Amino acid sequence: MKKILIILTGGTIAMKASPSLGVVPTSDFAQFLKSFPQLERVADVEVMDYSNIPSPYMTPDLMFDLAKTIDLKIVDYDGVVITHGTDTLEETAFLCDLVLTTRKPVVFTAAMRSGSDLGLDGPRNIIGAVRVASFIDSRDKGVLVVMNDEIHTARDVVKSDSGKVGAFMSLGYGPLGSVDPDRIVYHRNALYRECVWTDRIETNIDLIKATAGFDGRYIRCSIEHRAKAIVIEAFGRGNLPDYLVPDIKAALDAGILVFISTRTYTGRVLPEYGYEGGGKALEDLGAILTSDMKGCKVRLKLMALFGKYGDADTVRRFFLQNRD
Ligand code: ASP
Repeated sequence: MKKILIILTGGTIAMKASPSLGVVPTSDFAQFLKSFPQLERVADVEVMDYSNIPSPYMTPDLMFDLAKTIDLKIVDYDGVVITHGTDTLEETAFLCDLVLTTRKPVVFTAAMRSGSDLGLDGPRNIIGAVRVASFIDSRDKGVLVVMNDEIHTARDVVKSDSGKVGAFMSLGYGPLGSVDPDRIVYHRNALYRECVWTDRIETNIDLIKATAGFDGRYIRCSIEHRAKAIVIEAFGRGNLPDYLVPDIKAALDAGILVFISTRTYTGRVLPEYGYEGGGKALEDLGAILTSDMKGCKVRLKLMALFGKYGDADTVRRFFLQNRD
């Protein structure tokens, strides 16, 4: 039997409804897990009570500390499963994917329903995640996310719905595999994985989302706060209005890297449009287009790159070398 460590960090999976407070964290989740004999049948499981926070409380520093814990612990296990709130799971999983060096399975899971809801998904997701972590073919796949009997990569997965059990999707690509009753099935390979093996992260990186008619005050605020980089989730292929160009120029002139991703759900940004503010014109100005990577994940990758290399020019070159 494979030896799997389950690290508990909190989230709805460890919450229950209280009549006066609403859905809140409980302290007996580790105990609750023991009431599922199915878990013992799939692996030799140990549980580590790491934290018990709702995932909106997660910060990049907490994520990075968690990654360091996984890194130290996994040497003594065949795989690690992390339970987490769903709200920021895709970010924590992706930061761990960037910085972890292990080839062993690291699998995040969560629940959309609390311990007081009908049709609990948490225990099923945990057992699925432990099965995935115990499966030899899950090695070398980077950090995985198991939800609703599906296996996703940390890079591609997003929480796409605020309430449904099937909220986690790899939009545009589909899941990597399935947790079937008889066995784990992988349908495809992820072609590449982002890695930045670093000892520290730099958190002063901003993310701004474009909306029709939005103005440059957020960019100016980032400049004022000396952000190392600004990621803008622009329109479509990576386009912005012409009147923002002076603010983008000001950021670039201040030595701040500007990255352009898209606010669309799928697809890549491209240097296609040459009008003032269009993706091609922005690239010509010195902004960096980020392919299909979502803004929140570009932000985390930049935190790791700045943590490792420090200066903007090196970060720019390292970002571009692996850009697809
Ligand atoms: N608000 C919760 C959290 O992310 C939602 C969940 O876990 O599903 O902690």
